[in-house]
Parts: sequence; C-alpha cells; structure tokens
Amino acid sequence: MRRWATVTVSDGKPREACGVFGVRAPGQPVSHITYDGLFALQHRGQESAGMAVSDGDQLVVVKDMGLVTNVFNEYKLAGLQGHLAIGHTRYSTTGASSWQYAQPVYRNAGGRAFALGHNGNLTNIEQLAESAGMLPGTVGNDSDLLAELVARRMETPGAGSDLLDALCSVLPTLEGAFSLVLCDRDRLIGVRDPHGFRPLSLGRLGDDGWVIASETPALDIAGATWVRDLEPGEVVVVDEDGPVSVRPWPAAAVEPRLCLFELVYLARPDSRLYGQELHGARVRMGEQLARQAPATADLVMGVPDSGIPAAEGYSYASGIPYATGLVRNRYIGRTFITPGQSERAAGVARKLNPLRGVIEGKSLLVVDDSIVRGTTTRAMVRMLREAGAREVHLRISSPPYRWPCYYGLDTGTRAQLIAANLSVSEVCEYVGADSLAYLTLDRLKEATGAPRAGFCDACLTGDYPTPVQLGKAPKSAPLTAAAPGATGGPPLAGLTPLPMP
Ligand code: SF4
Repeated sequence: MRRWATVTVSDGKPREACGVFGVRAPGQPVSHITYDGLFALQHRGQESAGMAVSDGDQLVVVKDMGLVTNVFNEYKLAGLQGHLAIGHTRYSTTGASSWQYAQPVYRNAGGRAFALGHNGNLTNIEQLAESAGMLPGTVGNDSDLLAELVARRMETPGAGSDLLDALCSVLPTLEGAFSLVLCDRDRLIGVRDPHGFRPLSLGRLGDDGWVIASETPALDIAGATWVRDLEPGEVVVVDEDGPVSVRPWPAAAVEPRLCLFELVYLARPDSRLYGQELHGARVRMGEQLARQAPATADLVMGVPDSGIPAAEGYSYASGIPYATGLVRNRYIGRTFITPGQSERAAGVARKLNPLRGVIEGKSLLVVDDSIVRGTTTRAMVRMLREAGAREVHLRISSPPYRWPCYYGLDTGTRAQLIAANLSVSEVCEYVGADSLAYLTLDRLKEATGAPRAGFCDACLTGDYPTPVQLGKAPKSAPLTAAAPGATGGPPLAGLTPLPMP
C-alpha cells in the first residue's frame, strides 16, 4: 500500500507493506477466524489492523491503529457476526500513521457495499487518477484509489453495477503489485496481479468454507487446508457454490515474477512458496553462501530472526559450529522508526543484545539476509566488537540491494541504498566488518528450490517487470534522504551510484 505524499523512514531493513486475509464459511465464527489469520500475518504489517464482516444484509468494517491484539478483543469480535469476512494488517510508516489509511477500504456504490484489502504498490496511480478526472489529494493512497475506481465503475450507467464486473474492467488498467481480497455482502474475492509479485493462497475450511490469505501459515492457524496458490493474473470468486476462477488479463500480460525477497526475508519461514517451505530454502541459501564465500572462524551465528536459517545452513556446509550470539528482545515487534540515523542505530540495541560469554575472544562468522542502508548492520557489528568479538566476518544470503522497490517495500531512494553507492569492499569498511560477501543471484535462485520459476529481482538487478519512473523515489520513500554517513561513518555524499548492470 502506498501514500501519495508521505515522509517514510525505514530502520534499514526491507519491510513488507501489508497482509491480507479473507474467509467465507457459513456457520463458522468468521471474525474469530479472521482475527487468527491476521495474527499469523502480523509480521507483514504492524501499524493498523482491520476487518470487514458481512452477515448477508450488512457489511460492517472495524479498523484501528495498532497490532491485531490492540485493535480487536473478545467484546469487539463477539459483535461481528456473519458468514463472510476480510481482514488486513498494514505496515507502519512514519507520517502515514493515520486511521484514514487503515484497511479494509469501504465503499458503498449506490447501495452496493464492498470492502477491499490490498498488499503491494500500484505504480501508475497518477495516470489512473488523471484518467478518472481526480485531482491530486482527493484520494489518500493507491488502495483508496483502486476502491474509488471500482465504485465509480459500478455507478457508471450501462457499465455494469456488479462488483465483479466493475473490478474486472478496472484490473487491466492497473500497473504494479496487488494481491487483493474483497468482499461484498455475499462473495469473497481474491486477486493476484499478472506478475504475482505478492503471494496469495487459497485454502479449504471444512465442507463449505474457503479462505484466501497472503501466506500459508494464516491458512494453518485458521484450520484451513491449503488448496493452491492463486495464479498470477487470476481472480478467484467464492460464493455459495464455491470458488470459480476468472482471468481478466490477456494471456500475454501474465508473467510470473514473485518477489524474491519474500523467500529471502519477508514471508514467514513456515510459509510455502512455489512449493517450497521457506525455512528449508533459507538454510540452502546459507549452504550456498558457505560454498561460495568460505571463511575461517570459531563460530557461525545468525542475526535474529531472519538470518538464523541461513546461518544454520552456513554451519552445516562449512563445519564451523553454530552458536547463538545475539538475543532478540521478543517483546519488541519492530524497532520504532525514528527520523534520525543515530536513533535508528540505538534501536538496534533495544532489539538485539549480545551474549558476551559466547562472543568474547572469538572470530565470528555472522550471517544476515540483507544489507539495505547499512546503518543497522554497522550498529550490530559495533555491538559485537564491544562484546569482545575478535573478528567479525559478514555473509549476506542475498546479492547487494542496489535498486529501490516500487512494489510494496519501503526501501527508500537509491541514494539511501548503501550498495548502490559503495563497492562491496567499501560497504565492508563502512559497517566495520573484517570481511564481507554477498550470495550471488544464481546461487540464491538455486537455493529457493524453484530456480526456473519466475521471480522479480529488480532491487538486485534494476530489471523492473513493469514500467517505473526510475528517477523518482517510490512514493513510500522518505521525501528527505538521509545519508548513511549520518551515524558517524564515512560520508557517502558525492559518490556516484554504481552503474546499472
Ligand atoms: S524489487 Fe525487490 S523487494 Fe521489490 S518486489 Fe522486486 S524483488 Fe521484491
């Protein structure tokens, strides 16, 4: 999900922009099931949570700022009775923390109410708004715009008043990433864009219940059985007769490009994508890393939580013992996002704490999944040295992150991506490590277990699957770029970004 004008600051890691969930299950407690599903998707968005519940007559939306557990309680859920529900969790971005942007988005088109939840970013919102005659500022974000376009279509005389008809006429005009759940009073609808940037799965719940969710663990927690992933370019409509599939795009427009970072970092390790459980894929990434970039060290350790499976893999393949050297505070879901880089570094200390007894006097091989801005990594390396580490060798289970994401991650501008501005050896020097190596793209794809499947790797290669305005920051990026050197490291200003591969 993306705001039109915002000030967004990341803590240095790529962050997901939303999780979506939907269930149609007559006779079952759909609001409680949606609560459980959203809880399983909490990692995809922690700013706000919401759900829309239909009993066939009324479609009620409840949403608020905060975690799923803050927004809903037993009292609220008890009041949300129905046979159909969709839910949404949204990622927190500074400046966008407003109830106004919480989802599901609700519209009532001439008495025909519907709700929509969106994961991903549209990349042509200006053109869409302009062609619909909307003035900038009249629609809050891309999800709002999408709902507005569908509602207007439903209200257009002769254009069809049905939600599905209107949706299918609007979808081919959209560019970018969108995994959607929608509902009206009786139908659950799931949509995956023609590139399938963001995941979306279909599950079966009992005899006549159906679930659609961003990730498979949300199906598990809801008690549903995975049936299949929605295909890129597919719309699945669930009514009383069960699911049917609709294809609003021409076959030529469909080209699977699942976000590679879903496999590296974003999705839960117990999620399945392209038939692979991600924990196993991440262990293989570490094994590949050990073969590609061996090192002499006393211990292998992972940066919690997402670096740990790859660290296990590195240890298996290298024979270097694995140890826990950093403890993550389990009661901080995320680092509070603050505008100052030094504050961001301080956030690392709130999140991670070193085990001195393990680290002191040791040469460490530290595995992480990515380095985006470098500030978090730099603070972590400093923390390890202060805890007595003799050497810190960094290994990253993905290639250098050099290009902004326009498809739903708040990676910031190119100027803020450290690998776009510094060579690998310069990054190593900046973060204060003794050595640094990144996994190559070929090895990363091999490790996914589905190397010939379609992936988006634009942030690593600059090869964007859809047109993007490269000179322009993603709309979710900060309007004011802060150089990584602001923490006190070597200034980055004045360096020319590495040429496009
Ligand atoms: S640009 Fe990178 S983070 Fe964004 S969708 Fe593509 S692979 Fe994922």
